[in-house]
Amino acid sequence: MFVSAVLLDGKGLSRDIEDELKIRVEELNKGGIKPHLAVILVGDDPASQVYVRNKENACKRTGIKSTKIILPSSTSEKEVLDLIGQMNEDEDIHGILVQSPTPKQINELKITNKIDPSKDVDGFHPQNLGKLVQGDTNGLLPCTPAGIMRLLKNAKINLEGKKVTVIGRSRIVGMPLSLMLAQKGVDATVTITHSRSKNIEQICQSSDVIIAAVGRPEFVKKEWVKNSSVVVDVGISRVLDKSTGKNKLVGDVEEAAMEVASHMTPVPGGVGPMTIAMLLTNTVVSAAKKGN
Ligand code: NAP
Repeated sequence: MFVSAVLLDGKGLSRDIEDELKIRVEELNKGGIKPHLAVILVGDDPASQVYVRNKENACKRTGIKSTKIILPSSTSEKEVLDLIGQMNEDEDIHGILVQSPTPKQINELKITNKIDPSKDVDGFHPQNLGKLVQGDTNGLLPCTPAGIMRLLKNAKINLEGKKVTVIGRSRIVGMPLSLMLAQKGVDATVTITHSRSKNIEQICQSSDVIIAAVGRPEFVKKEWVKNSSVVVDVGISRVLDKSTGKNKLVGDVEEAAMEVASHMTPVPGGVGPMTIAMLLTNTVVSAAKKGN
């Protein structure tokens, strides 16, 4: 395939961020603070197990202590809420994360709301999301949107006055990302599209930047991408590769869009590693605040 786009290398940038964090962790350790992330995994979803393992490995690389608590899929909502309550009180824990998705008897919003906002390293607590609406980006930011913003900034992509289309309006990706893009100082003109939107193809064709967070493999076609626009592919889906008979990871954007885009994130190796880097950053920020 002919590729003209510059790859937005999330894997490389995330390793640079980890190197910086490692130094900050060592400094905190000298002051007697050991940044500590607690991860709760309820059930045995294989994809979630992989995500949790990746987070644990990243903690190891940066010197952050991680504790993993695995609970059976029959665990009640109250049991998880009680565990979070204990972790909120535990001064040794600086970040609490409950891996999504949780089994259906557990309401994820209730879980999010229970986590102490100062330990909400996923950045999903209403208090942290509310700060974003107020234009305050100094709190704990949602990891995937923060990772995307960092990736764009690192590539020196100026968003001021640019037409950015976000496909997807979830509370973890599309909606907070749209707020970050529209904030003062970034100054993009943001269009949010979703499953009830009409003419997404045409909206994309007139956009300088497309950010796809849909969860549908290859939803965005090469023909939707204007010449020299920037494409960020958040989606990760496992699909069967007919040529090998094995599963492979596919994004929300056709790979052939690389032929027309000026910059594009690969899948894997784009947004995914940046999400983890931002999780580690939030954990270190939270630990450093406790030390003040
Ligand atoms: P989600 O909660 O399922 O949200 C998907 C969004 O896409 C919804 O807003 C939905 O619209 C919209 N949508 C669905 N079908 C559509 C269609 N035909 N046309 C237009 N919009 C449509 O998913 P999410 O949690 O935001 O995640 C999205 C993707 O990103 C998934 O593949 C997920 O695995 C991936 N992801 C990756 C990372 C990473 O670190 N790389 C992190 C998080 C998520 P409605 O609101 O109308 O339903």
